[in-house]
Amino acid sequence: MTAVTKHRDSSINDKDAIWAAALEVLQEIISPSKYKSTFSRIMPVELTKDNEYILGVPNKFNQIWVERQYLELTTKVIRDITGKDITVSIIVDSSLADEMLSSTNMSVQEIIPEKRIEISTSDDNGFDPKYTFDSFVIGDTNHFARNAALAVAESPGLKYNPLFIWGGPGLGKTHLLQAIGTYVQENYPQKKVVYVTSEEFTNQFIISTQKNTTEAFRKTYRTTDLLLIDDIQFLEKKTATVEQFFHTFNYLRERGKQVVIASDRSPSEIDMNERITSRFNSGLQVDIQPPIYEVRLAILRQYTQSMSIAFQPEALSFMAEKSSGNIREMEGAITRVAAFAELSHAEFIDLELVKNATMDYFKDQIERPISIASIQKEVCRYYGITHAELIGSKRKQDIVFPRHVAMYLSQELTDTSLPKIGASFGGKDHTTVMHAAAKIKKMMSSQAEVYSQIQHLTNALRHKAI
Ligand code: ADP
Ligand code: MG
Repeated sequence: MTAVTKHRDSSINDKDAIWAAALEVLQEIISPSKYKSTFSRIMPVELTKDNEYILGVPNKFNQIWVERQYLELTTKVIRDITGKDITVSIIVDSSLADEMLSSTNMSVQEIIPEKRIEISTSDDNGFDPKYTFDSFVIGDTNHFARNAALAVAESPGLKYNPLFIWGGPGLGKTHLLQAIGTYVQENYPQKKVVYVTSEEFTNQFIISTQKNTTEAFRKTYRTTDLLLIDDIQFLEKKTATVEQFFHTFNYLRERGKQVVIASDRSPSEIDMNERITSRFNSGLQVDIQPPIYEVRLAILRQYTQSMSIAFQPEALSFMAEKSSGNIREMEGAITRVAAFAELSHAEFIDLELVKNATMDYFKDQIERPISIASIQKEVCRYYGITHAELIGSKRKQDIVFPRHVAMYLSQELTDTSLPKIGASFGGKDHTTVMHAAAKIKKMMSSQAEVYSQIQHLTNALRHKAI
């Protein structure tokens, strides 16, 4: 290793000078991408009298990563430079995290590109197989909604019609709607089931008026046996679409067809003609409230059951405590923890690991809602691409990857539905968003760079007001 010997200079004994010299050498040995993603996160902390050279990194994962990948090499380089028998150790100094936040921009070329996964949009009926009654954890704050949903699924059109489910974001409304859909499809295969968000409904309606196909549009909806309409609050102020929906709704109800509606607020709080909202009241309205601690814990337990790695009880209770009750947020936390564990080859997940992996995750949840626009802006800035590229349809890897990252973050950090996220990315299909998010999740647990970038972007977004 000639590069190492070249720099031998026993006069260097100040911690910063050692590090500067070491970096020069390391930069020549390690590939630029790996060098930048790892060594930009290391700071010299101290050179002790006992010849211990201490380096600081912002988090546990970086510590594990550096120890695993680069400790031997770094030690060798430092011994060579100083001519002393120095021991190098890596400590976590969380104060470094903020300092580095703005200085660790990496370009997308630095990521090992994964084989491109083709996105399929076929055979998709809109139902996510993971949203079933079996996977829905029951607690005091959601059991009415769940029981009503199950009753409707068992005998569509005969029980509560319409069933109106309302509650805050991430509490399981879409889950229940989809569970009803899947149940009815399985048990009453002859019934026509349609799940639609009210945004999609609106778009379809607008397109049908432009193309003079409103008759076909009407027919599609009037021939359903079960209409599941999600996020109805989106129809506020869209008078023409509301009118159209109202006719469909009446038509179906008069014929004993089941309608299920989900909303982020109660019918009386929806800014819509009372003639319509009072109809919503004619069936059954049920609300879902955020789960209490025990239920949060049960939900987390359920998520971790299917994972191959064990969670220590304190690790789970920590997450249940920290969570505000938004279940989507809890899933995000689990994803990060799992990726962290995978990357650091942990044998089990303990409290410390969870704390490190979710360091900034739960912070400021409520005070700072994150918008898709801010995610797109941050992602563009970070990867150095334009907004047009981000939301366009170019398939070049250095654009596709940031696009997928932005979709993943939009799905995880905002309450926006998949179709709406798709729409914000130049009118992409909701399955595209779903696949992009799944792909990033997978990459996070196999590629340290991807994990670090997601953490970095999340921190940046959380620290910024929109
Ligand atoms: P909403 O439509 O109310 O915003 P979702 O139905 O999308 O919320 O739920 C967010 C996430 O939380 C989904 O992945 C869903 O499966 C999960 N989830 C919500 N409630 C429960 C529950 N009671 N048990 C298990 N998972 C749940
Ligand atoms: Mg929803």
